[in-house]
Formats: sequence, structure tokens, C-alpha cells
Amino acid sequence: MCGSLMLGGCALIMSVSQIVLVDQGTPAALIVLPENAEPIAVYAAEELAYHIEQASRARLEILREPLNAPPAKPAVFLGATRAARDAGIDATSLASEETVLRTGDGQVYVVGNDGPGDPLDAGITHTGTLWGVYEVLERYLGVRWLWPGKLGEYIPRANDIRIPALDEGFSPRFAFRQQRPGLGRRGFTEGNMRLSFSEENAKRYARDQTVFLRRHRMGRSEDTIYAQRRSGSGHSFGDWWERFGKEHPEWFQLSPDGRRGPAEGAKPRKFTMCVSNPGLHAKTVELWQEERSKHPGETINIDISENDESAQCVCPECRAWDGPPVDRSTLPPGLERSFEPVQAGTRYARFAKAVHALASAVDPNVKVNYYAYLNYFWTPDASVELHPNIMIAFVPWFRWAGWFPRTEAEHEWIKQQWLGWQRTGASIYYRPNWFLDGYTMPLVYMHQFCDAFQFYARHGMIGTDFDSLQGQWAAQGPNLYLLSRIQVRPEMPIEEMLGEYYATFGPAAGAVKDYFTYWEDYATKNSTRAADAIRTRRDGNFRRYALYAQVADELYPAEVFPPAETILARALEATRDDKDSAFAERVVFLQQGLAHAKQCAATAAVVNDTSSSMDAKKAAIAELLKIRRSLEHTNIANMDRAAIIETDSWKEIEGLFEP
Ligand SMILES: [Zn+2]
Repeated sequence: MCGSLMLGGCALIMSVSQIVLVDQGTPAALIVLPENAEPIAVYAAEELAYHIEQASRARLEILREPLNAPPAKPAVFLGATRAARDAGIDATSLASEETVLRTGDGQVYVVGNDGPGDPLDAGITHTGTLWGVYEVLERYLGVRWLWPGKLGEYIPRANDIRIPALDEGFSPRFAFRQQRPGLGRRGFTEGNMRLSFSEENAKRYARDQTVFLRRHRMGRSEDTIYAQRRSGSGHSFGDWWERFGKEHPEWFQLSPDGRRGPAEGAKPRKFTMCVSNPGLHAKTVELWQEERSKHPGETINIDISENDESAQCVCPECRAWDGPPVDRSTLPPGLERSFEPVQAGTRYARFAKAVHALASAVDPNVKVNYYAYLNYFWTPDASVELHPNIMIAFVPWFRWAGWFPRTEAEHEWIKQQWLGWQRTGASIYYRPNWFLDGYTMPLVYMHQFCDAFQFYARHGMIGTDFDSLQGQWAAQGPNLYLLSRIQVRPEMPIEEMLGEYYATFGPAAGAVKDYFTYWEDYATKNSTRAADAIRTRRDGNFRRYALYAQVADELYPAEVFPPAETILARALEATRDDKDSAFAERVVFLQQGLAHAKQCAATAAVVNDTSSSMDAKKAAIAELLKIRRSLEHTNIANMDRAAIIETDSWKEIEGLFEP
């Protein structure tokens, strides 16, 4: 039995161990930085003060050591302060992304081993203090970041903010966490420029998204997979034919016609390697040693990722490395063509093993990285054992089938490939292209994506590298929230993660859940139809996501939008009497994303119709531009990415993008 007296007693005990930061809307604590604070600690202090002020209207003062006297109020000491050192926390002993959270003597310590550089640069590896602040904000203020920009900041109102007694240390679960940002306009055409952001909005969007990704702790503890990029961008042999083709044609693919190097009529960089060739292994290691001698003291690893092509070599040595033919009948229908002309998974695993054996004789700590991709994605023969310093980027890539949402057979088969790679003993990270897909459409697949990710996390995943964000923050909202959130909380049940997202719509939470459930069900039901529609374009020689505007109207015809609009109208209605206007504004944000998607699909219907006149097509583009100009100041979408898909999809329609 627990009477009121007892409860009062419990509350008293709690209050002794808690540290009060804000008391009834008044600042009750200070933030203290080290005397020579790194920019990342300064940024952490600003982030902490900003969110506390948004929650409570109380602005905590930020001071720097040395303090003239012990602080009169409780203080949150950030980074490598003297006070933290006196409390027994040695920042320099912490790993690069490690955080210590501790309370004692009425003070709070948030300590990381901070390093120099721009706090928004994801390449800055010493970030423990900032990660600690985000942890505090999430746990004790209930802050959530839904999408880039102010409306996407969910900061519950609080008159009192308290920190409980703490004594813990932690690091991010994955050594590197990356979402390639989809920013930058290299190679933009005039057509791209016309359909994309204005200069000003492109800058604003980039800043907002960068801040957002850091809040979700995108970054890395070490340069493992980045250290080898000095010599390439992940496809390592692009210039080898030009450099070495004359002298060493035997390092290059043998085609069935007996030719080495690029096939007849192919572009000079379109080829793969003869990966069983010992001379190729030796040259790879020799070039790595040259790099090492140029950069003494730096970690340089070896990237042997094949060029962006399916493996082609038919020489007897490579064929022997493939082992006995694999049973293709175990493949889910639709994936067969992904493994032509050969299933080269075993061959490339042996290649990595051979290069690692040579290089590790020079440096036993060297890491060898490559992409398990295209026709060498399939798990290698059970006899292949790989060293943990061989880093496999798991890149499931299929021309049309296999993308999210996928059939159960595909889903299961891809998981089995992960297990197969794990069995080899190599270290595996997830480097998918899934989030390139869907253009501006409300394509969402939260449950299946989460299921796969958590499966990999349970089976040894060491990091992530997602290629690339398309920034459809309204149309694909919970998909993208999950993509960030799951990298910080990989064990959180999906309904809890989605619940966090929906809750930020206040009284509209239920309707917003209905809305995205409608689209997820739609995508799941139409998954095979979507793959088929995409396959039939351009003889199936079709990068699934890149030309998506060619199928947007077929996959999202006009009649699928009104039921979705009705649900969002109901969501908006639910927020009508709430005094927090942000709930309604967030529903409007979703409505804007839906309106933009609908107009994109309507434009596609006209442009894809071969019987439409040029005038009609140009008028459809003009209509799209009208809505895009009216929405580009919001963060509903990265308009630059939408523009790229449109101009790529319709580049053969001459003059379409001229005013
Ligand atoms: Zn070969």
C-alpha cells in the first residue's frame, strides 16, 4: 500500500538527486565551456541553450572557464573543462565519439574528447560532447527532429527542466553512419536550374538539412572506409585502362570475343577487371604502398571496389575462382538478370582475400574494402573465409525488382545473402541505394525497411552509407524519420519509432498514421506492378530511380490522391482547437507535399503521353513550376533532386525545359 505520505517521500528523494536547469520558467543553471573550447563544444552549448529556451523560454547563460568563483547555480559543464577533470573525468582518454554523462555535487558533466573543425562537417570525428547534448535533449526534454528546419523541431513546452542522477558512458552503436546528402549542383544544366531551387533556397535547404543530420548523429568514429578514398570514389579502376592497358592487358576483363579491356564500341572507362590475375593484386598493393609513403603516419586502406559495371571476365582462371555453377532456381523471380553473365560473388571474395594476404604482410592492420554489388553481390561459396579486416559494403542492387517494398521472397533472399557474408568472417556495412527511389511520390515502406535494417544490426552490421537522400520530407516523412532514427536507436521497436513521429502531430496523430498507412499499403500492394512498369521502359535497361518521372503517372494515377487528401483534411480538422499551432502547421506541411506530388504526377501524365502536343507538355511543366516556386521556401522537398529526375527522365524531349 502506498499512501500519499509515501509518495511525497519518494518525490523528495527524487528531487535531491535531480539537477534543476529551469525552475518555473526561470533559468536555474549555467552552461560552462572549457577555456579553449573547440568549435564543436561551442556549438553543443548553443544547441543546448537553444532547445532549452524553445522549451521553457528560459535562456541559460553560457560561460567559459576560468570561473572567478564556483558557480552560484548548478552548471552543465560541456567538454574538457577543468571542473570535469577535477570530478575525475579525463576527456583525453575517451574514444573519438565517446560520451560521458555524469552528475555530482549538483553539477552535470557532458564530456567528449572533442577535436577541431567545423561542427557541421560529418568528417569531424571527435564529437562526443555534441552527441551527449543530443542525448540529453532527447531523453530529458523529449525533443525530436522530424525533418530539416524549424517546423520539424518538436520541442515539448516545459516550465521545469531537470536532469536525473547520471553516471554512464556510451558511443554510437555503428562506427560510421552516413546518409549521402544529395546536395550540390555539379553538372547542372539550364533545365535543371529552371526546375530546381532558387540559389537562396538551395543554400537555406542545405544548411537546414546539414543541421538535421548532425542532430541525428550522422558522422563517424574513424576513417576506416574513407581512408582509402584518396585514390578513387568507390569504383577504383576507372582510369586503369588508360594508365596500364597497353602494358598489361591481362589485368583487364577478357570478353568472349577474345578481347581484353573495354568491349568493342564501349566507352573507354566501361570495363571490369580480371580479378584472378596475380599481377593485378601486386600492382594494387604497390600503389597502396606508394600512397602510404606519401602520407606517413596516416591510415591508408585499400579500396578494390570494381568499376560501376557487372563483372565480365570469362578467362579460365576467373571462371575457376567462381567454383561450381550456382543454383539460380533459388533466386526469387525477377532477380535472375542481376546475375548475368556470371554469378561472381565467390570470385570477388577471393580477389579481396588475395589482396589482403599481400598487403597484410606489409601492415597487419590494413583494411581492404569493396562493394558486394551487381553480379558479385550473391554470397560466396561456403568454403570462403575472410579476415575481419576485409570490409564488405553490402549493396543490394537490382534493375527493377527487389526494391522496397519488395516481395516476401525477395526480402528473405536478401537477408540470406547478408547471413552468407557474415559467415565468411568479413566485416559488413550497409550501403544501399534504396532512398534514391520514388521521385517526389509518397512512396513509403517503413515496416519492411526497418525489419531488414534491424536484421542486419542483429547480425554484425558495423556501419551504414546510404546513397542518397532525395529529401522528400513531406511525401515520404516517416520513411526518412526512420532512416535517421534507426541509426541512433537500432533496437527501438518500429511502432515506437513511428509513434514518436506521429505524436508530433498532436491531436492529428491518429489521422497522420492513417495517412501514411494508406500510402504504405498502396506501395506494398503495387510493388510487383511497379517493378513491371519500370521494366517495360527502354527495354528494361533502366535505372529504377533515375527515370522515375517516366512512370510516376502510371504508378500514382490521379484517382489515388483524393482518398489521401480526405485523410489529411480530417487530420487538419483534428488540430483546429489546439492552441499549439505547430500541429496544424505540420499537417499543412504534409498537405503541401501531397499537392506537390499530385502535380508532379499530373505533369508526368501529360509529358509521358506521346499524343500530347509540345505546347501541352510545356504548359504542364509551367504548372509544375508554379507550385514548386510557391513551396520551395518550405522544406517539403529537395527541389534540386526532383529537377534531376525530371530532366533525366525527359531529356529526349527536345525543348521541353525551355521557357
Ligand atoms: Zn579473368
